Amino acid sequence: MILTGGCACGAVRFQADGDLHRAGICHCMTCRKVSGSAFNAFVVYPRSAVRIGGETTAFHSSETGRRHFCPRCGAHVFALYDGEEEIELHVGSFDEPNRFRPTYEAHVGRREDWLPALEGLPQFDGNREEGGQAG
Ligand SMILES: [Zn+2]
Ligand SMILES: [Zn+2]
Repeated sequence: MILTGGCACGAVRFQADGDLHRAGICHCMTCRKVSGSAFNAFVVYPRSAVRIGGETTAFHSSETGRRHFCPRCGAHVFALYDGEEEIELHVGSFDEPNRFRPTYEAHVGRREDWLPALEGLPQFDGNREEGGQAG
């Protein structure tokens, strides 16, 4: 199945083909600041499964993290991490809602008090696993 998405103004578009690796929610400070929202809902695909069209600007959010956004409308669309063969796409960047369900929450220590934990899902104080992506 091919899913499409892009930034708010349409200058950056993407298409994701096939199965994702995972879907999650992150409450870390970088995800909060970058999204301007209380948390970041994202999906991770193999890098080779996603085609990007249009120019992006990258914000170096950590030593290895690159958060790509549209220079025209400012919308963050995807993130790449050095040394990883994966790409992280924002759930809100996809054209249709209800395509993904998160399977875990990361950096839950930064979760807003008014926001309940997603019942039954693994809760991580930091990243999903040791050695996982950061920033
Ligand atoms: Zn745009
Ligand atoms: Zn995060």
